[in-house]
Amino acid sequence: MCDKAHAQIHCEIDTLASANKEALYAPYKSLDYSSYSFCVKLYVNVIRKSDGTGGQSVSDVYQALSYLDTSYNPHNIYFKWSHQINYIDDTYKYNNPSGAIFNVNNHTDGIDIYLYDDFIPLLGFTGGGQANEQKTALFVTGYFVDNNSVALPLVKSHVLSHEVGHILFLWHTHHGTGENTTDPSECPELVNGSNSNICGDYITDTPADPNMHYNVDLATCTWLGSGMDANGDSYKPDEHNIMSYTQPKCMKYFTSKQSTRMKNAMANIARLQLVSNYTTYGYPCATPGLNYYPNAADTELNLDLREKPENIYEYQLYNYYGVLVLSGESTNILKTLDTSTLDEGLYFLHFYENGELIVKQLVIEH
Ligand SMILES: [Zn+2]
Repeated sequence: MCDKAHAQIHCEIDTLASANKEALYAPYKSLDYSSYSFCVKLYVNVIRKSDGTGGQSVSDVYQALSYLDTSYNPHNIYFKWSHQINYIDDTYKYNNPSGAIFNVNNHTDGIDIYLYDDFIPLLGFTGGGQANEQKTALFVTGYFVDNNSVALPLVKSHVLSHEVGHILFLWHTHHGTGENTTDPSECPELVNGSNSNICGDYITDTPADPNMHYNVDLATCTWLGSGMDANGDSYKPDEHNIMSYTQPKCMKYFTSKQSTRMKNAMANIARLQLVSNYTTYGYPCATPGLNYYPNAADTELNLDLREKPENIYEYQLYNYYGVLVLSGESTNILKTLDTSTLDEGLYFLHFYENGELIVKQLVIEH
């Protein structure tokens, strides 16, 4: 998000990168990686007060990331992370969201997501986000007050999907039409679509958008503004497009050509190649061996079998003394085991794949 709406929301992408963005993307414009599946690596940072209080909870983080799955998985773009949150405990940083946070724990082999608290405003706005394309990093903070005066935490909204969209080379749908940036190629898109591949957001299946400025009815998601292009044709922007300035609650999807552009960029642009990989078929976030978390486990243990070939997998959990305490089998899904009744201590997780036994250590702590 990169503008104010009723002085509520603010979003920026770094201007240095955006000036070069279209020129950098141009050679890949005619490519089509749309049938490939992509995996994007994430790092998740939560900013708290110096004493470790405040900030997003673990369940808030999972809820936030579920928005990414909802918007990207239908396009066969998936995300993986270590399931270990990195906490940045600093009261000054907690109270002052800014791009300076991108210098803390920044990685080049994944997108760094920095999540501030729900009620920490940004530079006079109630909330917003910022994406730094060169650092492949973004933050989200604060809330959005809708026209029913309900405060929506932006961390748990598609604003997160929107900021990832910027990193994966998407412009706003009103780019060149309803905003001026440092992009030297920008020009207004016409409603009839005749210049949609060289103007606007450079994407042909998103309608011309004059910038809705969040002036969208919350109940119907209908744009309440009006306007005409140079031909006198009335704008009909898409109020559900995640890259528009619609109400965050109305953000729903990326179009297939937005997805193709993101995939082409990931396959070809160096800094995005570092944070992603692709496969020509099958689940792309494969990890060898067994992916299980958390370790230490408390009440639940997750066996992530989603990257495995379709099959039935057998598992057993032995305690330190070699006593079998839990066993079962699962198809290739995210399998959650109840460990709430198990004693604290060291365990050995046995897992069978292609007739081979894999043994992993697991700690249980309540
Ligand atoms: Zn934006």
